[in-house]
Amino acid sequence: MRRDIAIVGGGPAGLACSIEAASRGLSVVLLERRAFPCDKACGEGVMPEGLRVLEALGIRALLSPNDCAPFRGIRYEQEDGSWAEGSLPDGGGLGIRRVALSAAMVARAREEGVDLREQAFVKGFQRAPNSVLLDTSLGPIEASLLIAADGLASPLRRAAGREGRLGELVAMGSRRAAGAVGGGSIDFAPQVKGMEMPGYHPGAMRTMALGLAVAARGADHNRSGAYEADLSEETDRLEADPGKGALAKRSEDRAALMDSLILCKFLRGVFADLPAEAAALLGLVTGWPVDGAELEAVGERVVNLRRLYNLREGATRDEDTLPARFLEGGGGLGRERLAAMIAAYDSARGWSAEGVPTPGTLRRLGLDALAAGGNHPREASP
Ligand SMILES: Cc1cc2nc3c(=O)[nH]c(=O)nc-3n(C[C@H](O)[C@H](O)[C@H](O)COP(=O)(O)OP(=O)(O)OC[C@H]3O[C@@H](n4cnc5c(N)ncnc54)[C@H](O)[C@@H]3O)c2cc1C
Repeated sequence: MRRDIAIVGGGPAGLACSIEAASRGLSVVLLERRAFPCDKACGEGVMPEGLRVLEALGIRALLSPNDCAPFRGIRYEQEDGSWAEGSLPDGGGLGIRRVALSAAMVARAREEGVDLREQAFVKGFQRAPNSVLLDTSLGPIEASLLIAADGLASPLRRAAGREGRLGELVAMGSRRAAGAVGGGSIDFAPQVKGMEMPGYHPGAMRTMALGLAVAARGADHNRSGAYEADLSEETDRLEADPGKGALAKRSEDRAALMDSLILCKFLRGVFADLPAEAAALLGLVTGWPVDGAELEAVGERVVNLRRLYNLREGATRDEDTLPARFLEGGGGLGRERLAAMIAAYDSARGWSAEGVPTPGTLRRLGLDALAAGGNHPREASP
């Protein structure tokens, strides 16, 4: 059976990940080579921030006061008698017996339905398309995602090529890597919403520039194929005019429709009128009486749902943008011109000036429950 997540290592990191992931409805298997509860050489002092996490994960309530000792601050003393000390914020920290912490986390993970496998050693793993296959002492285990929580030295992270500063950096993706490097390097990271740019230069194709800026998961040419409009007679690819809004919308809606029909994007150019012809094909295969207008609405609904999902997860309008190097300087699109195209896009979509689908738009698409305010921002995770 394939799991959403396989976690290797049942220390505090692995168990905390397992509890959080399972509480979000993901199927989780955790493999620990030792028997639970696990002990380990440790000073056993948990800082205020760590206590907040234990509270949020529902672990603190499972700890017996007999296994805990509060402390208000930390004092370092040297052999020559000199010392330094400081008090901790938020009521201080808590010393927790390591085995008691392990037992409480294991109990909490079981409550959430994590599949805990103890005395299970992971020997290695192999990548497969969209999954990872673990070689374990219990036999093979397949998962969509592997979390290597196998300790500080982590042979698994090393095997995945995340050893050393460069490997760690590259594995983060360019946005997070730029955050780690600092010094304004984010301006040179060619990414939108954390996804790296494809090979379509926004400076040479304004509809594509808009499509990449607003697309739900970042600079993804499989979600916006707006370069097609730029390369057609429909528009002047070098002009940042308001007409680009409707063109970018149409491209996104049609990409979503093709994904829903499970059609390869290379078929884009095959259709003269994608929704109408796709409706005819779908009708032949299924017998459903669908027409082009209905399929157009399917694509539009998908894009609106993606936007609502992002908003619920905390996305903001600021993220609908392009890297500074494509906006500023000679040949740059300019922030104001991008903002004007985004406003035209919002208007074509029936979204507010903040990029939020309006209740009227959601009702038009049959998303009445969400129009009534059923899309609340998720609480920040610990
Ligand atoms: C002397 C000492 C004192 C410390 N004092 C403190 C302190 O006071 N406060 C504090 O916050 N931190 C302290 N630490 C640090 C703290 O112990 C670690 O940060 C913490 O244990 C890291 O948790 P983890 O889950 O990442 O890794 P670990 O706790 O190391 O857990 C990794 C788990 O993975 C398992 N594993 C490894 N490989 C495999 C495999 N191939 N297959 C299956 N399972 C595998 C291991 O058996 C282990 O249980 C101290 C550390 C030391 C050494």
